[in-house]
Amino acid sequence: QTIGENLRRTVERHPDRDALIVRSQHYRASYRQLWEQIDTLARALLALGVAHGDRVGLWASNRYEWVLIQFATARIGAILVNINPSYRASELHYALDQSGVSVLLMARGFRTSDYRATLAQVRDALPQLRHALVIDDDWRDFLARADEVTSRTLFERESALQFDDPINIQYTSGTTGTPKGATLTHHNILNNGYFIGRTMGYTPQDRVCIPVPFYHCFGMVIGNLNCVSHGAAMVIPGDAFDPEATLRAVAEERCTSLYGVPTMFIDMLRHPLLDELDLGSLRTGVMAGATCPVRVMEQVRERMHMEQVTICYGMTETSPVSTQTAVDDPVEQRVATVGRVHPHLEIKIVDPERGCVMPIGQAGELCTRGYSVMRGYWNNPTATSEAIDAGHWMHTGDLAIMDRDGYISIVGRIKDMIIRGGENIYPREIEECLYQHPQVADVQVIGIPSERYGEEVMAWVRPKTGTIPQSGELEAFCRERLAGYKVPRHWKFVAEFPVTVTGKVQKFRMRELAMAELS
Ligand code: ATP
Ligand code: MG
Repeated sequence: QTIGENLRRTVERHPDRDALIVRSQHYRASYRQLWEQIDTLARALLALGVAHGDRVGLWASNRYEWVLIQFATARIGAILVNINPSYRASELHYALDQSGVSVLLMARGFRTSDYRATLAQVRDALPQLRHALVIDDDWRDFLARADEVTSRTLFERESALQFDDPINIQYTSGTTGTPKGATLTHHNILNNGYFIGRTMGYTPQDRVCIPVPFYHCFGMVIGNLNCVSHGAAMVIPGDAFDPEATLRAVAEERCTSLYGVPTMFIDMLRHPLLDELDLGSLRTGVMAGATCPVRVMEQVRERMHMEQVTICYGMTETSPVSTQTAVDDPVEQRVATVGRVHPHLEIKIVDPERGCVMPIGQAGELCTRGYSVMRGYWNNPTATSEAIDAGHWMHTGDLAIMDRDGYISIVGRIKDMIIRGGENIYPREIEECLYQHPQVADVQVIGIPSERYGEEVMAWVRPKTGTIPQSGELEAFCRERLAGYKVPRHWKFVAEFPVTVTGKVQKFRMRELAMAELS
């Protein structure tokens, strides 16, 4: 199936069910209404001359037009290029130029009030860019162009599409450096979205609160494609994550499922509204994108009614999800692992240097193979062959352990592993230890260069409100629970960590900042 065929099937089955609610825009549409609006938009894009395989850039934060554009481009076989709304001129230029975008749709995002000026700075250096449309100003006139194209023309285009056509270029989060453009097909992302919802038991009765960005695979696949393939409703609180707007959306729209990266859940758990609002409609949800601390998982289950919350693990390059916890997994596995391999996929844990499979219970690089693996990095065969080997295995760069029953624990990224005096140290273990401390709200551990040991352990701590933890006490706390070489020697107390716009902590930025301070 193509994404368009899948959407059509849902519309035929559930025309009057809620499809999309965007609270910040007071927008509501049933599946029938959504389909009609997508139809108009698809014909307007054809009127602009968008051909099969052309790249259409979308530079906006969450809003209803984003979803319309996502499905309209899929229906005409154009490749959607998701562009991070917080990009500055040079990053914007890189993405548009690298992917060869010919039509750009853009709108004011939460951090891009000067987006027109930003584009103007680089426009001359983008010879391939033919049209740049401002959603806030040009939308009505643009949609009016749909009249120039008949439904028959649209139908002919749709009939020519193949399920394994590339349909999307998604840039990775940039957690470890420059984002890379993963080329994904209908088959890749539609199937992945479907299986994620199936694991959670989604039905057309589900109402899914999506406060994570659409431009990232979390919003676009785990969110939108998943909901559409199951006929569930997408509930969008606003254009950027806000704990209060999200909690209110859940309570007022009677959401059954809620998504977030761990830091978002930490913010919601700390919010005074949590105990005032009725969140009793919640049943399930997804935490993903970064290490999900056990204590946070437990609190989400207990205090947010999300008894059946799942953890997903994956990456942009794999559509994204490779493993997910299941509702019937034992509780211990549901809070402390990322679950087992998804249907129709394979996973193995290998020695990163030698490539041989590691014994059960030992850490190695997680590799995955199957329908979810991207076509490759757009226009970058070198990076593609470094990531996907001749046997079609995607090397994730993540360190993981598989237990006897196939449950996977993510230990951290190979790049973040600390090697101190020849000992391998996994930041996750130290972070989990410090999460137990009553004054610690959030903690991130990195390695910084040390003359004596090669690397030394440093912890950054976000204290709980109203507390002033002392490094000596935290050090003693760790010393009681961890081997001496793992105990952080450097401490920093912060209000925030450097994060990507998706809320992922950028440890490479932390290392840069720490080194600048220490030198
Ligand atoms: P870049 O590749 O640009 O540095 P990124 O890897 O953060 O950024 P994404 O594709 O958004 O870009 O994120 C995938 C990564 O997120 C995984 O490789 C893994 O390191 C991390 N991750 C995702 N889910 C989990 C999880 N449940 N637990 C731990 N880590 C996770
Ligand atoms: Mg990555």
